[in-house]
Amino acid sequence: MQRSVHVERVKSQNHWDVVIIGGGASGLGIAVDAANRGYRTLLLERHDFAKGTSSRSTKLVHGGVRYLQNGDVSLVIEALKERGIMKQSAPHLVRDMSFVIPIYSWWDGPFYSVGLKIYDMMAGDLGLGKSQWLSKEETTAMIQNVNQAELRGGVVYHDGQFDDARMAITLALTADSLSASLLNYATDF
Ligand SMILES: Cc1cc2nc3c(=O)[nH]c(=O)nc-3n(C[C@H](O)[C@H](O)[C@H](O)COP(=O)(O)OP(=O)(O)OC[C@H]3O[C@@H](n4cnc5c(N)ncnc54)[C@H](O)[C@@H]3O)c2cc1C
Repeated sequence: MQRSVHVERVKSQNHWDVVIIGGGASGLGIAVDAANRGYRTLLLERHDFAKGTSSRSTKLVHGGVRYLQNGDVSLVIEALKERGIMKQSAPHLVRDMSFVIPIYSWWDGPFYSVGLKIYDMMAGDLGLGKSQWLSKEETTAMIQNVNQAELRGGVVYHDGQFDDARMAITLALTADSLSASLLNYATDF
């Protein structure tokens, strides 16, 4: 992908079907989608691609586990499905990551064990790994500086981690391959 090629494309084209302002995850994803549908697509980014929030996220592709607590089941199902699609389509950028929740009260044990089993079931075939109960010793082995006072055990569950900046660049390259025009530093061409 060469910027000079894109500058020439922009100069020679005077009609666009879709113009996107901003080359973060949202804009680049829209560019792929629009170009894939055959629209003449232009994306303008004033800095570099993914210079903003899209290279500064927590880098999680989570399935929305925290929304389960609010009972927002449809959002969790959608997030789990999207996580699975990302893992399948970009396995080099998305990987399984395990998290351990230390348990200190009798109620938190069944609460997190059952909640995370439901999370596993909702992920279905797109799940990254099964959650499981850990003894106090296993929890301590996994989190060596965990607070020992009243520690009962823990629950390990799986979610996704990804490289946000590389994902954005991959989207830019894909949009380029679909003949979208993409300009970074678009203020000075
Ligand atoms: C602390 C934090 C942690 C997060 N953690 C996660 C996470 O773990 N997992 C997850 O999936 N999401 C996470 N997110 C959310 C995710 O990072 C954002 O939803 C996503 O990056 C937003 O992408 P965007 O393209 O909408 O915005 P941006 O990445 O900010 O892109 C907007 C772009 O528009 C450009 N722009 C603005 N105005 C103009 C203009 N006038 N002309 C040209 N260009 C312009 C900017 O330069 C910028 O590059 C997190 C967000 C934050 C803040």
